[in-house]
Amino acid sequence: MYKLIPGTRDILPQEALLWQRMEAACRSVFSLYNYHEIRTPVVEEMSLFNRSLGETTEIVRKQMFVINNKDDNYVLRPEGTAAIVRAYIENNMDKAGGLVKLYYMGPMFRLERPQKGRQRQFHHIGCEAIGSSDAGLDVEVVSLADALLKNLSISGYIINLNNLGCAADKEELALRLRRKIKDLLPKLCADCNQRYDSNVMRILDCKNPDCKTALEHLDLDESHLCAGCRKHFSAVKTGLDSLKIAYALAPHLVRGLDYYTGTVFEITHSGLGAQDALGAGGRYDNLVKQLGGPATGSIGFAFGVERLILAGCGLKPAENKITSYIISLGDNARSSALKLLDTLRRNGISADTDYESKSLKGALRKANDYGAKFVLIIGDDELKKNTVMLKDMESGEQREVKVEDVVQELGKDLVT
Ligand code: AMP
Repeated sequence: MYKLIPGTRDILPQEALLWQRMEAACRSVFSLYNYHEIRTPVVEEMSLFNRSLGETTEIVRKQMFVINNKDDNYVLRPEGTAAIVRAYIENNMDKAGGLVKLYYMGPMFRLERPQKGRQRQFHHIGCEAIGSSDAGLDVEVVSLADALLKNLSISGYIINLNNLGCAADKEELALRLRRKIKDLLPKLCADCNQRYDSNVMRILDCKNPDCKTALEHLDLDESHLCAGCRKHFSAVKTGLDSLKIAYALAPHLVRGLDYYTGTVFEITHSGLGAQDALGAGGRYDNLVKQLGGPATGSIGFAFGVERLILAGCGLKPAENKITSYIISLGDNARSSALKLLDTLRRNGISADTDYESKSLKGALRKANDYGAKFVLIIGDDELKKNTVMLKDMESGEQREVKVEDVVQELGKDLVT
C-alpha cells in the first residue's frame, strides 16, 4: 500500500470544509483592503530563489525540492514573494501604473525535517504590495495581518516588529553583530559558527536552544539605522499606535532571507510550541530592481495555514449538507428517480440518490448522513400516480407531491 511522503498531508473532506471557510474569510478581508488574487505556478526556475532569498540561506542551501530536467533546473516554490515579483515584472504590472496589491493562497514546498508545525508541503496565505515605500503601507500591511487573524477568530498572538534598515544599514548591523557575537562563538552551534562568516544576521534566527540562550542578552537597538530609516520606523510605530494595533519591539528579529530591508515583522503564538511563528513578512525594497524590474518599494507577508489551524482558528467548518435525497423502490421507479435527480440539480437544488442498492432503512440512514433536508421516495404506487412521497427529515412529516411540482415545493422551502 502506498503511503504519504513524510511531511505531506491529505486534507480530507471534513477538514477541507474548514479550509474553505478560512480561505473565504481571508478573501473577504483582502477585498476590504483592495488586494487582488494572483495565482502563480508551483514550479519556477531554481535561480529565481537562489538570487532573491540568498545563496547562504537555509532554504536555498538545504530545503529546495529540485527538479532536474535535461537543460533546466526547476524547483517547487519554497515561498511566494520571489515568484510574485517575477510575475509582476514579466507581466509588466508596473507599467499598468502605480501600486499593485496582490494576495495569494497555495502550497509551498521545503525539504525540512518534518515535525509538529513543520511540513514539507504546507500552505501560505499571503499578500504583496508592490510599488510604494510609504510607511503608511507598512501600517496597512501589518493591520491587514492583524485583521485576518481577528477574522479567523485567532487570539493570543504577538506581533513582533523590527527595522533592519536599508542595504547600508544592514551592512552596519552585520558589522556590529560580528563584533558583539565574536566572543560568544564557542557557545554557538557549528552552523552558527559557519554563519558568522557567511551571513552573520542569520545567527539570530537559529532555533538551537544553546544558541538562543547565548544570544539572549545581546544588546541590540535602532542605532544601526540611518536618519531616513529611523524616520520610517518611527512613522510605522506611530501609525500602528494610532490604529491601536499592539506590537512588541523585537531588535533580535532579522528574518532569514536576503531580500528583506527596513520593516520586518513576525507574528508568534505561544500555543504553537517550538515552531511558534504563525506568519511573517517585511519590506523588500531592492528585490524588484534586483530581479530586473524598476526600483520600487514593496512589502508583504505570509501566514502558514496549517499553523493558523493549530493556533485554534475559531471558524466553524463550512456546511456541506444536501437538500434532497431520492430513494427509488424497485427497477421501474429507478429511471424516473434518475430523471428527477437530474431535474433537481439543473434547477439548482442539491440532490443525490442511492447507488449502492441499499434497503429503504439503509438508504434513509445515508440520507441522514448527508444531512438531507428532504427525502423523496418513489415506489410503484407513486410511479403510477406520477407523484413522489416527500419526507421532511427534520419534522418527520410526509406528503405526496406531484413530480412536476417537486422543484417548486423544494425551491419554496429553500427561499424561506
Ligand atoms: P516563512 O516564509 O518561513 O517566514 O514562512 C511564513 C510562515 O509559513 C511561517 O510563519 C509558518 O507559519 C509557515 N511555515 C513556514 N515553513 C513551514 C513549514 N515547513 N511547515 C509549515 N508551515 C510553515
